[in-house]
Amino acid sequence: MGDMLRGAGSECEPIRAIKRDLGVDVPHPPSRQAGSADTRRSAYNRRSFLRLGASAALAGLAWPMFRAEFARAGGTVYCNPNRPSTPAEALAALLAGNALWASGNQQHPGEDATRRACVATYGQTPFAAILSCADSRVPPALIFDQGLGDLFVVRVAGNSNALVAEQSLAYGVKKLGALVLFVLGHEDCGAVKAAVASYPHPAEHFVRLIYPAVRKARSIVKRNGGSPNDPKEVVPVAIEQHVIQTVAQLGAREPFRSATAHNQLKIVGGVYSLDNQTIASVTQ
Ligand SMILES: [Zn+2]
Repeated sequence: MGDMLRGAGSECEPIRAIKRDLGVDVPHPPSRQAGSADTRRSAYNRRSFLRLGASAALAGLAWPMFRAEFARAGGTVYCNPNRPSTPAEALAALLAGNALWASGNQQHPGEDATRRACVATYGQTPFAAILSCADSRVPPALIFDQGLGDLFVVRVAGNSNALVAEQSLAYGVKKLGALVLFVLGHEDCGAVKAAVASYPHPAEHFVRLIYPAVRKARSIVKRNGGSPNDPKEVVPVAIEQHVIQTVAQLGAREPFRSATAHNQLKIVGGVYSLDNQTIASVTQ
């Protein structure tokens, strides 16, 4: 699975062409990254381009020597140089990216030729795993303003915790070291609307996965004096409840439970507004 996701041994011609254009087959050392578009992240704890061997780079060793030294260290190459190092930083980076997106000031980090060549050569080190809806209006890399190698994204209609989704997210956390797991619902979700419309009758699997949230939402609406049979009232509540329940489900499962207990992972949920493009937290 790792090789499949990292694309190891399957370098395609476009990537080789990029490297030829660059005149390199390895990413640039930190000193050549100064002009990157990632300057917006200066508020975060900056990471060296390569965590191991950074001292060698600072010592002015030639890049090929640096690379060889690094390779002997057997460590991980981080193509996203400003990768957060804690769950709290990772969440802050996501929310900062969303703020840029919502304000129309997105930076489009990590899209340049160097990043493309680096991730093709060294693989991925995403700092966040995202479970989001397949809805075309809610693409995580755009609405969090992140680049190649930053987000490990699982998308399924209704952002439900289906088995394959959970197993994929587990890979992103356990094997790739994602620091935050973000469950992202969104306004006007067609899958949730379908679940509200068909509840409690037989329906497609991805719709039935949302039924527990619909049940909870109906009870909340009723308790608040509303009409549990009015989709306009139930759908927004069901969208929130589905995120809340999915976060709780994942948090009780391995490897997420242990990672959270050891402060290696933060699991959060939010709902994206199509109107103002911001994400409201529903779990904190
Ligand atoms: Zn949706």
